[in-house]
Amino acid sequence: LEVIASVEPRIAEATRKELADQRGSLKLIASENYASPAVLMTMGTWFSDKYAEGTVGHRFYAGCQNVDTVEALAAEHARELFGAPYAYVQPHSGIDANLVAFWSILANKVETPYLQKMQAKNVNELTEADWETLRHDFGNQRLLGMSLDAGGHLTHGFRPNISGKMFHQQQYGTDPETGLLDYDAVAAKAREFKPLVLVAGYSAYPRRVNFAKMREIADEVGAVLMVDMAHFAGLVAGKVFTGEENPVPYAHITTTTTHKSLRGPRGGMVLAQEEFAADVDRGCPMVLGGPLSHVMAAKAVAFAEARTTEFQGYAQKVADNAKSLAEGFLTRGADLVTGGTDNHIVLLDVSSFGLTGRQAESALLDAGVVTNRNSVPQDSNGAWYTSGVRLGTPALTTRGFGHDEFDKVAELIVDVLSNTTAGTTKAGDPSKATYVLGEGVADRVTKQSAEM
Ligand code: PLP
Repeated sequence: LEVIASVEPRIAEATRKELADQRGSLKLIASENYASPAVLMTMGTWFSDKYAEGTVGHRFYAGCQNVDTVEALAAEHARELFGAPYAYVQPHSGIDANLVAFWSILANKVETPYLQKMQAKNVNELTEADWETLRHDFGNQRLLGMSLDAGGHLTHGFRPNISGKMFHQQQYGTDPETGLLDYDAVAAKAREFKPLVLVAGYSAYPRRVNFAKMREIADEVGAVLMVDMAHFAGLVAGKVFTGEENPVPYAHITTTTTHKSLRGPRGGMVLAQEEFAADVDRGCPMVLGGPLSHVMAAKAVAFAEARTTEFQGYAQKVADNAKSLAEGFLTRGADLVTGGTDNHIVLLDVSSFGLTGRQAESALLDAGVVTNRNSVPQDSNGAWYTSGVRLGTPALTTRGFGHDEFDKVAELIVDVLSNTTAGTTKAGDPSKATYVLGEGVADRVTKQSAEM
């Protein structure tokens, strides 16, 4: 930090504060974690300075021999860790990984004269009509994914996202009564819509998914099954999700982030069956720019950590702790979407406290509890204000929290929310954003959470 401060002291100061905030609050954001010192240090090395577009042994730049070592090792670790035939470790983030997956599915599956011509000709020889055919053929494909309010991700075909614009899209949700995935309903939708891509995976669904069933649905309608395991990759690596709950053997293509439950550096990755390997390999330069070599190095370090029995113990605790947190809420009368959890996520419906997700999130932050507001299924408050708060156990489990601590976390959250009331706008109307925190609550809870 001293080196940074000698150049831009405000960045050094912000970094110091960030460390204090992350250590001094209860970090319950389901997509966050604490990477190890080895992972963090690997990201701050000279690989940061190196350009390496292309693939291992096949670069558009000279002098990439050390990046080759790094990328090959990261991919090898990833293949071993997840039992995948092929791994592509270049994506800079989860969204990038999904874009690479979409590209490779289109390139592999869409019968277009463009692709044949591409193989036969120089790009410069393609005519305007060829390009028009390509745009038409690629632009006319269908994607079916889980809706955002049911727990899916923006990139799973949400209309405002590019995935909802580059494909004709439809979305499947969850059962309105139980909040659970209804495989028969997904199958019925798939039969009717006949998507090229069926996307499974989630950001806010607090349950496990049966990927064998999703593959059956994909096979029945001739779709490619793409699973985005960004959230639960750590539970797959840690062998908590095995058999039909492990997507890798069932999906044609599996994408993930590396920084959530997997506890690596911020980044993405694509795992694929052999059939898609060559197309995924063209992710750079088709979709991505130069890979972040320092981050690929940190991915290799994180994967080496994740194959240890220690990590498996961690992953099991992440799931056990989520159950403790859920029980802590249920015994105190709070409402949970689906009535509980069997992964690392607890989705708290805050309507019964008379609050929106936005009010709850802000009130909790005042008390040192960091969460994020989240839609609940069929959310009447929309995606901005929402009616839920999403909580995850990966980060605090890394800090060593167990059953008792997570029960206490539930107690503190219920304390804050039951002592918060919805506020009003300047005009005196009911507000979805402002709130009034009961006297002394923030101090009481902040003190207790700082002591944990
Ligand atoms: N996929 C899922 C399921 C996610 O939950 C997220 C992030 O929250 C992403 C993809 C995107 O990851 P990134 O923020 O690294 O682009």
